[in-house]
Amino acid sequence: MSESKFTKEFIAECKDSIAASLAVRYIMKEDAEIFRDALDEIARLTARVRELVDEEETYYSSWKCGWCNERFPTQALALSHALSCETHPLVQRVRELEEEVKESNGLLRSTYQIASRDGKDTNWDAFKKQVYSALDRQHKMMYDKGEK
Ligand SMILES: [Zn+2]
Repeated sequence: MSESKFTKEFIAECKDSIAASLAVRYIMKEDAEIFRDALDEIARLTARVRELVDEEETYYSSWKCGWCNERFPTQALALSHALSCETHPLVQRVRELEEEVKESNGLLRSTYQIASRDGKDTNWDAFKKQVYSALDRQHKMMYDKGEK
């Protein structure tokens, strides 16, 4: 929090505020008109600091996605985002499975065409390689921790 916009602005405005206070002490003896301006400036700075504190509190109390840390103004929005967040492991798994269904569907389409020709005019070596590689890929997806 030491590098936040809030902290930098707060320090800058405190410096201004201190300068204004010193000016007020000086001016009190000198000029009642400028003294009033200085008081207005202090009031303005006080209001601004209050605004910054409110902004900061709003930011830190907002809801965030537990997967990607994106922030949302309400819990409902954060939850609805989290269900489809691209960094959610389940969402990533669903994407992976969708890709596999597409690949497998292409292979089934080829299989259907081969069957429709009763196996005639077929490059069996290429087809066997495709089936083997699909089986291997699916096996790894299902048992990726080396189980069988
Ligand atoms: Zn997210």
